[in-house]
Amino acid sequence: MSEKTGTFSIVKKTVRFMLKEAWSCKRSYFLLQLFDIIFQVAAPFVEIIFTPLLIDELLGGRRIKLLIIYTALVCIGGIACTFGTNFVRISEERIAVLFENRISEQMSRRVMELDFQLTEDKDALDQIEKARTGMSWYSDGIHGIIGSLSKLVSSLLKIVGSVGVIAYRAPVLIPVTVVLMVITILLQRKLSQISIESFKSLSKLNRIFDYLFYEITDVKNGKDIRLYSAEDMMLKKAAEYNNGSLEQSRWEAKKGLPANLTLSACDCVRDAANYFTAGYLAVMGKITIGVFSQIISAANALHLAMRRTAGAAQELIERCNYAYEYLKFSDYPPALKKGSKSVENTSHTIEFKNVSFTYPNTTVEALKNISITLRPGERLSVVGLNGAGKTTLIKLLCRLYDVTDGEILLDGVNIAEYDIEEYMKLFSVVFQDFKLFAFSVEENITLGEKGKDVQKYVQLSGLDGAFENGADTMLFKQFQENGVEPSGGQQQKLAIARALFKDSPVVILDEPTAALDPLAEYEIYNSFDKLVGSKTAVYISHRLSSCKFCDRIAVFSDGCIKELGSHDELIAVKDGIYAQMFNAQAQYYT
Ligand code: ADP
Repeated sequence: MSEKTGTFSIVKKTVRFMLKEAWSCKRSYFLLQLFDIIFQVAAPFVEIIFTPLLIDELLGGRRIKLLIIYTALVCIGGIACTFGTNFVRISEERIAVLFENRISEQMSRRVMELDFQLTEDKDALDQIEKARTGMSWYSDGIHGIIGSLSKLVSSLLKIVGSVGVIAYRAPVLIPVTVVLMVITILLQRKLSQISIESFKSLSKLNRIFDYLFYEITDVKNGKDIRLYSAEDMMLKKAAEYNNGSLEQSRWEAKKGLPANLTLSACDCVRDAANYFTAGYLAVMGKITIGVFSQIISAANALHLAMRRTAGAAQELIERCNYAYEYLKFSDYPPALKKGSKSVENTSHTIEFKNVSFTYPNTTVEALKNISITLRPGERLSVVGLNGAGKTTLIKLLCRLYDVTDGEILLDGVNIAEYDIEEYMKLFSVVFQDFKLFAFSVEENITLGEKGKDVQKYVQLSGLDGAFENGADTMLFKQFQENGVEPSGGQQQKLAIARALFKDSPVVILDEPTAALDPLAEYEIYNSFDKLVGSKTAVYISHRLSSCKFCDRIAVFSDGCIKELGSHDELIAVKDGIYAQMFNAQAQYYT
């Protein structure tokens, strides 16, 4: 998407998107918009048409019946328009909440479905932030954009009506008015470009500020922040970014000053021209006082409508530019190749063939020419020091990233050729930084999947009796005062229960036990290994607790497999990495 901002194409695409969304969400909204336009347009013309009649009747015939009729028309017309507009606006606001919810839901879904790789990509994160802010408070979303559009339509209709009245009563005013209108539109456009430029610079600042704000207020960070007295540093950083956004506002105000001053000068010229012309015609006896007031009212209405049109057009362009970031995000190019092949329902062989990988935007190879085959039902232990590349191997296997070189084959077929959702179902992974949510124990285990007996998995993972309300126990305190803070061990068991519940043919434990002592870790592997049954399993650790349960051990170092074999084979390699590690840790396992 390389269109220039502010172009007609952006407005067209965004408006089309918003209209489509509004149509599928609430059709009656369009009827409300129609009434909104009718009331908006009618309001000034009640005054323009009937007030002059009233004035001329007061200064002339003073017929009571006509005076009452004109007064009633002015009052009732005005009140009807005001009430109508308010009623319509209140109903529109109610529907706007539906629109907001719809977009929030779409946005959350899209963020969750985004290729994992992009969640660590600065540009993608920037785009998410631009989409989020652009579609909410910057543009007011669907209602904001359709509202601006109907404002534009009603203002254009008011222009047509006012010009009609002026052209009929004092055509000489038309050229001045048109010239001022053009100047106003050009200046408003300039101001709009400045504010869009400013929005783009602010999005990065907003993302950093949001991060700091979240870190400061997230109760989970409470301990670290208090113990290390980090609040001053956090607030200082937040203040620095705050200053950055203030600076940006100052820049915007300074840059827009000449245009704003010229706009004020245009107002003075307009008033002078209107009063002079209409006054001259009245003094010369060419028009009545009623018509004088009609010209002034029409000229004022025209001026307001022009300002409103320029404002609405500018607002529409601006809002579309902001909201367009959401469309761009919706179409964000995938980071991974997406195949369509179905995964066959057999036991699977996985082969890494000369796989190398470098993380995006880095230069160091995290994996170098890895070749290893994982047979169905095999237990593989992947060990090595921190940073050796163990987790990267799993991320590639689970298609969180695509390999840089070489290929990974599932049953002889490159994994990129499979339908990614089907492929991902093959793996139950418990990562070191697994995440539990502030939902019930059951929801944390099933993640919405229905049809299996949760209780069985609660028992299997050793959590039976751990929580007072069993699977209905709410975790954490965000939503429930009596929510439970599970211990580290309980959290690991919950994560393991989740992995077992998924019941995939390949299970992977990526050091979820790193925070435990070696013996507790050994215990977890011991019970987990029994639960895994005939599935293929990969256990990752920088310690050797898991090796006892495995057919083979792959020793990683510096992105390479340095040793590969059974415990007995590797322990026999004199001065081998495994043998050294084992001897150093032997006290825990003998
Ligand atoms: P291990 O699991 O053995 O501790 P990792 O696979 O996590 O090692 O990391 C291997 C290398 O890749 C390390 O040098 C690490 O700094 C780097 N690395 C890991 N994750 C990322 C990432 N998201 N972006 C850039 N580099 C990364």
